[in-house]
Amino acid sequence: MAAGEPEADCLFCKIVAGDVPATVVRETKDVIAFADINPQAPVHILVIPRAHYQNAGELGVIEPELAGTLLAEAAAVAADEGLDENGYRLVFNTGAGAGQTVFHVHAHLLGGRGLNWPPG
Ligand code: 5GP
Ligand code: ZN
Repeated sequence: MAAGEPEADCLFCKIVAGDVPATVVRETKDVIAFADINPQAPVHILVIPRAHYQNAGELGVIEPELAGTLLAEAAAVAADEGLDENGYRLVFNTGAGAGQTVFHVHAHLLGGRGLNWPPG
């Protein structure tokens, strides 16, 4: 289970490998962005590094440059989706208690509707 290496039973590693289909909206050599299968807003896109890290903190500690790239790519997707004017939200659920169900770091990019604060 080396950080950065693909994990056999990881859903998002399978999407990166092309073994599970996804509606991809942006991809670079380091990052892939695809539509969430159960959208919580008119725009709900998951932005992930191709490499497997458990969560945002692990990614940030081990690969800070890649963490920055992930944020920049998320911003590029938001711009492509026309969210610059009204804004958007990036969410990194971390740990099962916070709602993380897939343990391959992913930014939820949410927008296209009003977003309440604080979140639930
Ligand atoms: P988490 O709960 O870990 O923060 O987010 C996992 C997200 O992955 C959820 O929003 C869920 O809807 C999404 N998801 C789960 N399975 C699939 C899948 O097979 N394809 C896609 N595109 N999204 C998925
Ligand atoms: Zn993975």
